[in-house]
Amino acid sequence: EFERFPDGVASPSSSEEVRALLDWALAQGITVIPYGGGTSVAGHINPPEGDAPVLTLSLAAMDQLMDLDTQSQIATFGAGTPGPKVEQQLRERGYMLGHFPQSWELSTIGGWVASRSSGQQSMRYGRIEQMFAGGRVETPKGTLTIPTIPASSAGPDLREIILGSEGRMGVITEVKVRVTPLPETETFQVAFAPDWDTGKELVRQMTQAKIPLSMLRLSNAEETRTHLMLAGHEKLVGILHRYLNV
Ligand SMILES: Cc1cc2nc3c(=O)[nH]c(=O)nc-3n(C[C@H](O)[C@H](O)[C@H](O)COP(=O)(O)OP(=O)(O)OC[C@H]3O[C@@H](n4cnc5c(N)ncnc54)[C@H](O)[C@@H]3O)c2cc1C
Repeated sequence: EFERFPDGVASPSSSEEVRALLDWALAQGITVIPYGGGTSVAGHINPPEGDAPVLTLSLAAMDQLMDLDTQSQIATFGAGTPGPKVEQQLRERGYMLGHFPQSWELSTIGGWVASRSSGQQSMRYGRIEQMFAGGRVETPKGTLTIPTIPASSAGPDLREIILGSEGRMGVITEVKVRVTPLPETETFQVAFAPDWDTGKELVRQMTQAKIPLSMLRLSNAEETRTHLMLAGHEKLVGILHRYLNV
């Protein structure tokens, strides 16, 4: 059953094209919905009820690293750049962002800002609000350029208005983020706890001890089993089961 769907889809490839589309849509009374990777779980990319025509504005064509300032370690991306392309383009230059929501493969850097997303390695690299340094937003009233000043005591921080705005303040077209040089090594360790409560207690103690980890994740038995099976090491899973006696 098809419910309400957009009347049109636009794929602009620059901020100027987004600006022109917004001006046109406003003049026509068209509702515009910015669309990044479409992984939203909050329903904001679905056309609302009503008679106004709906235009889905996909940022997919704006998927490039536009600038990397290695002195300030700030990278500028087209807002439609999906997770793998963000990391790949930075990695080629010796840097990383370190934002890995579970929807990383499909979600976009503009979508992360618009939905104030959290990544699995936010413990070290920060949530998106710590990474988001500034950028460009095309609002119904004109272009908003957010400078990359670290902090200001002169009034509210404009970044806070855009973070988590879910497309309501305008279309984010360029995102400036604080990046990090690639680590020399990165290792992930797994420990098995005998039950959920012990696992919870371990995680609490490790967090409060402020051990400098990038990720700390507690999985229940089902998720652990699923991850192991998805990793495809059937033989190892068998050995592990025997070892854990489950
Ligand atoms: C399997 C799965 C796992 C997930 N895991 C996580 C997780 O670990 N952490 C987490 O925080 N979230 C998670 N999510 C939720 C979702 O992936 C995030 O909210 C993500 O940041 C959305 O990015 P997107 O590019 O897909 O945006 P979309 O889904 O396309 O859009 C999300 C919202 O942002 C707006 N928007 C998108 N791009 C722009 C733009 N350029 N300018 C203005 N507004 C824009 C849209 O209008 C919409 O309101 C998960 C979702 C799924 C399906």
